[in-house]
Amino acid sequence: MAPFGAVTETETVRNYAGGEWADPTGEESHPVVNPATGETLATTRFSSESDVDDTVSEALAAFETWSKQPVEERIQPLFKLKQLLEEHQDDMARTLVEEHGKTLGEARGELRRGIENVEVACGIPSMMQSGTLQHAAPDIDESAVRQPQGVYTAITPFNFPGMIPLWFLPYAVATGNAFILKPSERDPLTSQYLFELIDEAGFPPGVVSLLNGGPDTVNALLEHDDVEGVSFVGSTPIARHVYETAAANGKRVQAQGGAKNHVIVAESADVEFAAEQSVNSALACSGERCLANDVVLVDESVYDEFRAAALEEVESQVLGNGLDDETTIGPLITPEHEASVREMIQTGMDEGADLIHDGRDWEADDDGNFLGPCLFENVEPGMTIVDEEIFGPVLSLATVSDIDEAIETMNQSRFGNAASLFTDSGRDARKFKEDAEAGNLAINAGTAAPMAFFHFGGQKDSFFGDLHAQGEDMIHFYTDKKIAIERWDY
Ligand code: NAD
Repeated sequence: MAPFGAVTETETVRNYAGGEWADPTGEESHPVVNPATGETLATTRFSSESDVDDTVSEALAAFETWSKQPVEERIQPLFKLKQLLEEHQDDMARTLVEEHGKTLGEARGELRRGIENVEVACGIPSMMQSGTLQHAAPDIDESAVRQPQGVYTAITPFNFPGMIPLWFLPYAVATGNAFILKPSERDPLTSQYLFELIDEAGFPPGVVSLLNGGPDTVNALLEHDDVEGVSFVGSTPIARHVYETAAANGKRVQAQGGAKNHVIVAESADVEFAAEQSVNSALACSGERCLANDVVLVDESVYDEFRAAALEEVESQVLGNGLDDETTIGPLITPEHEASVREMIQTGMDEGADLIHDGRDWEADDDGNFLGPCLFENVEPGMTIVDEEIFGPVLSLATVSDIDEAIETMNQSRFGNAASLFTDSGRDARKFKEDAEAGNLAINAGTAAPMAFFHFGGQKDSFFGDLHAQGEDMIHFYTDKKIAIERWDY
């Protein structure tokens, strides 16, 4: 038997439906290419409409029984899945690096964050409970219950292929729903691996399914009568499309979009620490993180100190294959994406920003989509590199005169995914928590990543919907509430 996750160039990534593996039958396909080496690893063949239909009907049939299983039985496969994920974490991380390009440390870290969601979902027996009140009215007791709703799907992006499916899957099934994952066609091998483990974990057939594909597969799910709800994570234009289409088809929907994250460095900050944190958060994963920092607004009184420390941090980066221990920045996902980031850098220069560190000529040992880190200064709102998501190893600096100007500048962004503040002032921190228009905030930390037991979600053009991923919001998203009032006199 081939090792877990092993696929070859000639092999097509498979679907998993009704507890069985099957080849997708659509016409289109997408190559899965190692972005560090250019080697083709496998092919993602897209699912056809009939693949989608068959998978949804298997899932719906499974839901009828699964939703009535005792909750304690529903979480047993999740305990097993957690154990399998722990056992395979290192091997799975290598698969992830080969298809995505990020460093091994980052890949292990994202799998850890995914596993944490499985752990939290094992607490569903407590989390799913609702209220009961005796004597709510004369001789009347009143109780609320939460019930699973049916078949849910999640459509996920390329940048966290190990973690993001697990923002949804454990909660969906623990609450009693059936769940279908549609991963990114660019790096589906980590999901392939995950489903090898799911196959071992003991879920009944049809409870958890995998559908590979592209836009047509997504649209078939969005329009399918038997899909109850949709989670989406990806770029803002597609998030908006998913939100509108799913809502127009009467579904619950949560759609997370792109980002443009700002950092504020106040006069009282530990400047060296702020520079180290801001730069590393911007460049890790080659900037292909929705929580990556994009623009640092530095108090003018500490700007020179910050600039020098930031330059030092940028220059210390190592570009290379994510499997090499010393690498800090891996390749970008595709040659097309690398070209679009390079074009953005040129646009930044054309629009008047100063490129104070130019990584465009940096080379790596391998022949992949490599781009070294770039640092701009003198940027302002209205410039394309400040207004639009770049999703590459590019960070921009600007000066501000105080925290009020910083927050006002930051809030001009149409995105609101994350923001960070470095300060030693409780006043600054309080104002920032109150006024910053972003869903994930960090104070004296570079990356505003919430733990699994808190929700994860942005605001403004970074999010469409109301209930977010992870934690308690997931229980609300995956269940509907029902009230019963009862009269029994004695
Ligand atoms: P993407 O929008 O290109 O793709 C995401 C998913 O949508 C994929 O599964 C893809 O197959 C599908 N898709 C693509 N085009 C479609 C179309 N026309 N119709 C229907 N479905 C379509 O995003 P990506 O490039 O894979 O991921 C990067 C983006 O995701 C960035 O913008 C990043 O900020 C964002 N992101 C956001 C968060 C968050 O929590 N807000 C987290 C991770 C990534």
